[in-house]
Amino acid sequence: MITASPGARITQAAATPAGDWRQVWREAVTDAAELLALVGLSPLAVRLPPADAGFALRVPRGFVARMRHGDARDPLLLQVLPQLAELDEAPGFVADAVGDLAAREAQGVLHKYHGRALLIASGSCAINCRYCFRRHFPYGEEMAAAGQWRKALEHVRQDASIRELILSGGDPLALSTAKLEELSRGLADIPHVTRLRIHTRLPVVLPERIDETFTSWLATLPLQKVVVLHANHANEFDANVDAACARLRDAGATLLNQSVLLRGVNDDADTLAALSERLFAAGALPYYLHQLDRVQGAAHFEVDDARALALLDTLRARLPGYLVPKLVREVGGDPSKRPL
Ligand SMILES: *Cc1c(COP(=O)(O)O)cnc(C)c1O
Ligand code: SF4
Repeated sequence: MITASPGARITQAAATPAGDWRQVWREAVTDAAELLALVGLSPLAVRLPPADAGFALRVPRGFVARMRHGDARDPLLLQVLPQLAELDEAPGFVADAVGDLAAREAQGVLHKYHGRALLIASGSCAINCRYCFRRHFPYGEEMAAAGQWRKALEHVRQDASIRELILSGGDPLALSTAKLEELSRGLADIPHVTRLRIHTRLPVVLPERIDETFTSWLATLPLQKVVVLHANHANEFDANVDAACARLRDAGATLLNQSVLLRGVNDDADTLAALSERLFAAGALPYYLHQLDRVQGAAHFEVDDARALALLDTLRARLPGYLVPKLVREVGGDPSKRPL
């Protein structure tokens, strides 16, 4: 049971009994008027798009509790609140920005880079981030659960060059730990896979997910473990998130973080430096800072390359090298993420 440290804001999530992460998941805020009321904003202060601009609002209450009260420009609020700007047509911003989403969905496994195979383990997320390509692809609830990962694992078994299996999504930790155990049993007789990597936003947005059952599973895996978090702003951390990160590290995971560069959220050097420092305090290193995928409805978040590079220069001059993320963009057909 985690208790917030003195002085920290006690979130509603902290009061939930351990092991009850699904309940916390279900209790997420899905109504814009309720969200605005919770953060002390008048519904008149914000102009909302009709029908959530075609992508449902969803945000766990613990994350809402970390938003600044009465601030319509709060960097956490802006990541989840539907905006009128999402309805604007912007040239170059398309539904399938990464170009291979159909393929992802069909196969459940993506093997684009040497030595690493990425498994779309789940299509669900606890939070709906407005800049995400998922807004156009309402994946099935549990893709891997549909028996797809047997085929995916077969692909991994046949290719001895694959050293690392990456669980991605959606959020792979949307799956029950029992499902994850099923998957790791399938890996047991594939000796060339020595690393398991998990790409997840849940330790940050729903830290209750990192419960005893999960960490016991993680700790006993006969693999090296890497957990890549996704946080975009230092304010996303609180005592509950720190505790979840500590549990992951105790279970033997190396913690990294990927962020997306987002206009109005984290596109200034002070904010990015604070994020790096905060990550390190939680035991994680910054890994990638992604240029936005050019997804329809997300153009208002874009930061141009020249400004992104200038921000990185400032960071490099201010932080130790290990706290400077790599600025990258995903380009279809490339053998790796493309450095800017
Ligand atoms: C991003 C990505 C990876 C991981 O790349 P790293 O540079 O190792 O973090 C692996 N496979 C696919 C398909 C990816 O998109
Ligand atoms: S957690 Fe990741 S995959 Fe899920 S909506 Fe947010 S950015 Fe997209």
